[in-house]
Amino acid sequence: MGSTIRLHVEHRLGAGQTVPLTAAQAHYLFGVMRRGPGDVVEVFDGRDGAWSAEVVEARKKAGVLQCRAQVAPQRKPPDLHLLFAPIKKARTDFIVEKAAELGAARICPVQTDFTNSERIRRDRLQAHAVEAAEQCGGTYVPTVDELTPLSRILDGWEGTRRLMFCDEGLAGPATALDPAERGGPWAILIGPEGGFSQAERARLAAMDAARAVSLGPRILRADTAAVAALALWQSALGDWS
Ligand code: SAM
Repeated sequence: MGSTIRLHVEHRLGAGQTVPLTAAQAHYLFGVMRRGPGDVVEVFDGRDGAWSAEVVEARKKAGVLQCRAQVAPQRKPPDLHLLFAPIKKARTDFIVEKAAELGAARICPVQTDFTNSERIRRDRLQAHAVEAAEQCGGTYVPTVDELTPLSRILDGWEGTRRLMFCDEGLAGPATALDPAERGGPWAILIGPEGGFSQAERARLAAMDAARAVSLGPRILRADTAAVAALALWQSALGDWS
């Protein structure tokens, strides 16, 4: 039998707890992965950690699991939001998947002055975040927000949340994040293919909470920049150390 199948479920978990499967989950588990009654999978709900669960009912479009034992404690990611300007669909999917794997707690698509893609499919992006969490062994799935104008987010900025503003205008030696600023709520902001406007730069420069940073001497694609920024932040201030 292959490696343990992991499923994110919208249901509280506990010893003996039965968990109903969605039609899609039943199709995947029984139709595609050929599992059946007595087989064990791993389930997580984002609050109760990960649990081993046995298939107790298996039908074409439905099924029931029963929790056996907790196999991993709930592990919340740091309080880190990723704000990014959507780019082409496949690359936006990539950003969401990597943000989930790299431990963002929330993923916020933002509309900036030079953002091209006007629309996103939030439910599709949320499904990518779920798949990434199932695949990477996480017990938490970041929430993907609706596309929101950056100006509106900055208007309502929470005072205590620091903002790692990745500014392509600073391309050069990568900025070292200050270890003294470890802890507390943070956000990372990545711009679109067209970069940030001067008005956006001026507004961000005036924000006490903003830290304008360079991600090195080369101009990175937005999806590369998102991964680089998440890795830089996790390594310096997050749960990688
Ligand atoms: N069109 C812009 C230009 O040619 O200068 C490039 C924008 S870049 C493709 C997309 C985003 O990635 C930027 O807005 C910034 O957030 C981030 N980025 C890319 N390279 C960076 C760097 N060297 N330092 C800081 N941020 C960078």
